[in-house]
Amino acid sequence: MMTTMDELISLAKQRGFIFPGSEIYGGLANAWDYGPLGIELKNNIKQAWWQRFVHERQDIVGIDAALIMNPKVWEASGHLANFTDPLVEDKVTHERFRLDHLLEENGVDVTGMSFEEMRGAATIAKLKSPAGNELAEAKVFNLMLKTFLGPAEAQANTVYLRPETAQAMFVNFKQVLATTRRRIPFGIAQIGKAFRNEITPGNFIFRTREFEQMEIEYFVREEDWQTQFEAWLSAMQQWLKDIGIDEKNVHVREHGEKERAHYSTRTVDMEYDFPFGRKELYGLSYRGDYDLKAHMQASGEDMHYTSPDNPDDKFVPHVIEPTWGVDRTVLAVLASAYHEEEAPTADGKTEKRVVLRFPYWLAPVKVAVLPLSKKEPLQTLAADILKTVAPHFVCDYDETQSIGKRYRRQDEIGTPFCVTVDFDSLDDQQVTVRNRDTMQQDRVPISELLPYLKERFNV
Ligand code: ATP
Repeated sequence: MMTTMDELISLAKQRGFIFPGSEIYGGLANAWDYGPLGIELKNNIKQAWWQRFVHERQDIVGIDAALIMNPKVWEASGHLANFTDPLVEDKVTHERFRLDHLLEENGVDVTGMSFEEMRGAATIAKLKSPAGNELAEAKVFNLMLKTFLGPAEAQANTVYLRPETAQAMFVNFKQVLATTRRRIPFGIAQIGKAFRNEITPGNFIFRTREFEQMEIEYFVREEDWQTQFEAWLSAMQQWLKDIGIDEKNVHVREHGEKERAHYSTRTVDMEYDFPFGRKELYGLSYRGDYDLKAHMQASGEDMHYTSPDNPDDKFVPHVIEPTWGVDRTVLAVLASAYHEEEAPTADGKTEKRVVLRFPYWLAPVKVAVLPLSKKEPLQTLAADILKTVAPHFVCDYDETQSIGKRYRRQDEIGTPFCVTVDFDSLDDQQVTVRNRDTMQQDRVPISELLPYLKERFNV
């Protein structure tokens, strides 16, 4: 069932997934902090991605580059000149908008339009702000966040927080090639923060000014690009399935010729039906040899690859770039996992149950240990059980409130198994294990609890 954003944001805050940033100071617009459960969920996503695309493959290696790079990188990559959005301002409220978004909302197809064309279209359409006011002259606004290195705020010290992780893979291409001796095709992967001074951030963690990306630059021979592109498309679709995202909510959208960057011959967006509409989740792009050539020209560094078998087989590799937003993944995973249903209560009635049906491996807490009472010797028995399970599975230990309320809380954070330690456990050395999805309860000997859980988690 599709949830609303308000429900998701409220659950995320109440349960400790995601908090509004700097909240005690009134927050900072569109900044969000990951709480204790959010960081577990996010780490599970990042670790699974790294495991799948770096550790399990011999053709991809990882790097972790500095967030602040030499500004010449952004000059060569074209970001300084072209990483812009068209900005307009309401003359009365001074609220700022993206001109392309306003035009689209007014039924103008802006695909492939230059800034000048958009400005012209706005004049023709007599475009007003959403509040109905006149708009100031449109401007080109660069999305890179600027700062200064060193004590003087001088132009010469201007640097930028990286707006994508990708350029570091191109800049380090030669070193990676030399040190790992990989053969084409091979890729460089990176997970890290990126910063964009978005004009209209919003929709919770969907569009923020600071976010995280998982990106791969995959270097291929030009003649192989189509095959490799298809392989990446299916790898990305498989990934989506494995993180529990229903195929029917994912849509592969091909960019039209006008929409693509001039150097790209094929770009697709993988869109997801978010609660606020269908929007880009991931991207996949064939970038030709544009980036390596641009850096070769600007830096003077030779970016050719030479085949180890044949010195005449020398070329500048072409690039396939699959890119995944970490925060958008978290949002899509939360929206997909969210379920509301009627569940039976102990007294034969029904009540609303909210449950996050994460795939087991993705759940931030895997097992909850719940002693029925705080009294001894139950507490000690429960603490011993926790000690046995915790080295294998992330555990939560909760001894407050009624057991029904504790189950509901674990359902709301998506914990696959609750282990209840009751007074009978003292005599029969067994515990009750409740499954999040079926709510079925099994009586399991304490000595067999770990193998029971391992079997169900498939580890
Ligand atoms: P959009 O059209 O939504 O602005 P984009 O096409 O500019 O996105 P890319 O440059 O392709 O995005 O960035 C790669 C990925 O990084 C996106 O698919 C998305 O998952 C993520 N991403 C981009 N911008 C943001 C942002 N402001 N907040 C959160 N995630 C983002």
